[in-house]
Amino acid sequence: MTVQTALLQGAELLEGANVAAPRLTAEVLLAHALHCDRAWIYAHGNDDLPERAWIHFGRYLNERLGGKPTQYITCRQEFFGREFYVNRDVLIPRPETEHLVETALEWMKRNPGSRVIDVGTGSGAIAVTLALEAGCHVLACDISTAALQVSHRNRQNLNAPVSFFAADLTSAIRPQSIDLLVSNPPYVPGEDASNMQREVRDWEPHIALFASGDGFEIYQRLIAGARTVVKPGGRLMMELGYRSLDRVREMLAVDWSDIAVISDLAGWPRVIAATRI
Ligand code: GLN
Repeated sequence: MTVQTALLQGAELLEGANVAAPRLTAEVLLAHALHCDRAWIYAHGNDDLPERAWIHFGRYLNERLGGKPTQYITCRQEFFGREFYVNRDVLIPRPETEHLVETALEWMKRNPGSRVIDVGTGSGAIAVTLALEAGCHVLACDISTAALQVSHRNRQNLNAPVSFFAADLTSAIRPQSIDLLVSNPPYVPGEDASNMQREVRDWEPHIALFASGDGFEIYQRLIAGARTVVKPGGRLMMELGYRSLDRVREMLAVDWSDIAVISDLAGWPRVIAATRI
């Protein structure tokens, strides 16, 4: 069995089961089984596949066929050009969340020396990226101690100046102590669960995805908390869910000004930013 044959067989298997991007997925899983990168596979297509790698590859294919997201198999996801460790205790960082990071970085550039916090940090992808891109210290919290173990690991792997702590939203933050609060909160309404991709619904942590009250419970509590902890003149930036914009904007109508909405590449409103009056 050569590397190339294994790859083709894997891709065929995935394609037959209607797994998205079968070829790419097979490459990623095979590279993971071989402890190499995808480029290596191309350069060594005619090599014999070591038995151990074949066994691992088979197991990974099985897991993927069972619905497990590739990122939870490889324990890796790239975000803003860096590789983050992920497991089932955290949401897999999404490319659209890079808009939130970009919006925050722009603001941080204009406001050096700011006190910045990422609320509901999960894997730490946002906090670690902000700290490394802006070259400054960032705070981050999460209610899930399991998620905090993942974010600690990412801080360590990437050597990022981030302080993590366990807390429910803003409950542990001193009043008027924050210049910039960023968050990608859970915002999926429970009723949307049946329409979700099974990879998301059956594998990603529900605590990071779903919010009660039609998906607005966390926005509500987060905005109320931010009102207390963000300094007057400080900024709040949040990721928006599909259909979140109008109600979130309403919640910001009192106590907040300079509301900006940033769309993602698909044209959906994805980030909302507001200044504490
Ligand atoms: N965007 C995620 C999804 O794919 C949800 C992330 C979140 O709830 N913050 O459903």
